[in-house]
Amino acid sequence: MIPKTHPRYESLLLRDKVKNAFKEGYLADSGMIAHGRGETFDYLIGEKTTETAKEACRAAVATIFLAENPVLSVNGNTTALAIDEIIELAKATDSKIEINLFYRTEERVEIISRMFKERGWDNILGGNDEKLEYIDNLNSPRATASKEGSYTADVMLVPLEDGDRAEVLVQNGKKIIAIDLNPLSRTAKMSTITIVDNVVRCVPLMTEIALEFKKEGKDKDKEFLESIVADFSNEENLKKSLAAIKLE
Ligand code: ATP
Ligand code: MG
Repeated sequence: MIPKTHPRYESLLLRDKVKNAFKEGYLADSGMIAHGRGETFDYLIGEKTTETAKEACRAAVATIFLAENPVLSVNGNTTALAIDEIIELAKATDSKIEINLFYRTEERVEIISRMFKERGWDNILGGNDEKLEYIDNLNSPRATASKEGSYTADVMLVPLEDGDRAEVLVQNGKKIIAIDLNPLSRTAKMSTITIVDNVVRCVPLMTEIALEFKKEGKDKDKEFLESIVADFSNEENLKKSLAAIKLE
């Protein structure tokens, strides 16, 4: 048990969740290393959602509302840290959820499927009992694609994605929204929209934005949504995210 009074309580709590996910068998060992890299960048941006990340979240939500077939991709880290938040976002934006694992094993897929179902999300895509396709150029277990999900998706949210896969997905004509604390990663550079923020903070923020748009009837206002997307430049946003890193 981590005492609540510990000055690094929040951070240690997340670390604990990731460690437990590894022990429970649904997170690969390298998922823990990826988390460590994320922690470093989070420390450097002050462990807060920057205004720059908020702008990216707005553009991301607008892009999802404009999509025909939006899919939220989940892996071990995302499941460990933000399973409930992802389900809320899917509900708020009418998106599908699909399991995509870099180190795919039947066991990991099984556990993650079960976790989503236990929370009432039955239609989890990318499972073991589905006949899966493969995304072009990546004929490996990490390139599985559900026919009704990522294979045909026009917009995908990919938290903690790998650069190679992000590139292939973009080459396949998809709009890719990455969540990645490292603004220098290949994923961050390759993606259509990159949210440089911790998955635990920005996913609930996206849901909040989506519900706000809906309340105002703007989720179906194409002109409004397109203007948000048109005003957004990922290159500029990444530059600002990099500038948010304080080294002194
Ligand atoms: P790339 O393949 O894109 O060049 P990489 O190989 O350096 O990146 P990966 O291990 O493939 O990195 O991906 C992990 C990424 O996820 C890292 O960039 C890390 O900063 C980020 N990350 C880790 N934890 C979180 C988190 N909780 N929220 C958001 N991003 C995170
Ligand atoms: Mg990588």
